[in-house]
Formats: sequence, C-alpha cells, structure tokens
Amino acid sequence: MRIATIAQIPIRLHWSFLALVVGYTAFSAWTTDLQTVGESLLMGLALFGSVVLHELGHAMAARYFGIRTRHITLFPFGGIAAIEQIPQNPTQEFVIAVAGPLVNGMLVLLFLPFALITGWWTLGLLAVLNAIMGLFNLIPAYPMDGGRVLRAMLSVPFGYIRASLAAMAIGRLFALLFVVGGVATWTPSLILIGAFLFVAIGVERRRLSYDIELQEAMTA
Ligand SMILES: [Zn+2]
Repeated sequence: MRIATIAQIPIRLHWSFLALVVGYTAFSAWTTDLQTVGESLLMGLALFGSVVLHELGHAMAARYFGIRTRHITLFPFGGIAAIEQIPQNPTQEFVIAVAGPLVNGMLVLLFLPFALITGWWTLGLLAVLNAIMGLFNLIPAYPMDGGRVLRAMLSVPFGYIRASLAAMAIGRLFALLFVVGGVATWTPSLILIGAFLFVAIGVERRRLSYDIELQEAMTA
C-alpha cells in the first residue's frame, strides 16, 4: 500500500505492518488507558519516520551514483529500499550501505541535545532507539548494511565474488545466531530477522551463481 511519495520514490507499507499497528492499538486500548495508547502510537510514528529517513539515506546515496530506487517498503521489523541495482563497485556499495546508519547517527545528534535541555524523556528514548537502529544495522550480517560494508571492504583485496561468498557465509552465521538468540530469549522479531536473512542470502547466492557462470563463460 502506497502511503506517500518522497523525492519521486514511492513509500509503501507492507500489509503485515498495518496488521501489527491495528492489532497493537486494539490490544493496548483494551488493556491500558487511552493516553498510554496515544503516547506509544506517537512514539511508533516517530520511529517509523526514523526508518523512512534511514532508507531515504540509502536511496539518496544511490541517486548520487545515478542508481534509481524503485520503492521504499516498510515491514514491522524495518524497511527496505529497493535499489535498482547494487553496484559491484566497492566504493559505491560502501557509501550506499553506510548512508542509512549515518542518518540514524545524525538523528541521535539532533534528538540528544534537545532531550538533555528539555528533559523530555520521549526525545531521549528516540535518540537511544536511533542509536540502536544505526548500530544494529552495522552488524556485519549480510545482506544487512554492515554486511554490505564488509563485502565492499573484502572486495578490494579479494574481488567481488570471493568477497560476496565470505560475506554470505558470515551472514548465515549471524542469521543462525539471531534465530537461536531469538528462541532462547523469546524475541519473535529477532527470529523473524534471522529467517529473513536466510531467505535473502539464498536469493543473493543464486544470483551470484549466475554471475559466476557468466564470468566463466566470458573467460572460457
Ligand atoms: Zn539500511
């Protein structure tokens, strides 16, 4: 579902996101008072805005290199900027991957002083959540941002294909850690992220096999 268009990029909501918001609102309206519901919805909206800005960071960096972004889609566990093609140029991939967490860092620098001056804890919480969002995305779990940074850096000495294989192997390890950690601490969102990483790595691995075949065909 399209909710807005920013800088010619459609911003979409995945249906599961909507289901979660409606479900959460109904559940908390039933269990707590309306003011608490209003406050947490406002917090949710601010967080949601931070995710959109994070994804726009990737999209704007991609645009700088002449790469279009088809859409930004928001899922309950985060957003995805559908960039038309991930560049095999390490510098470009590095800059695009880092741009998202960099936006979170800037939001922390924006919110934190205001929180300290006004003593408004909501702003402080927003700063903390942005710091977590930025740092979590920098975990080198390919295809998360940190994993792309790792692939870009490994590409310089080892070349794109070997760097990708290494980043994917590390990514699978993290995915497993997320699922096990999620089960152990009963954190469904962590299990979901782990499962999502497994699927995403599988897709990327098949695409890479095609690249390898293509390269072999060209060098044969
Ligand atoms: Zn990101």
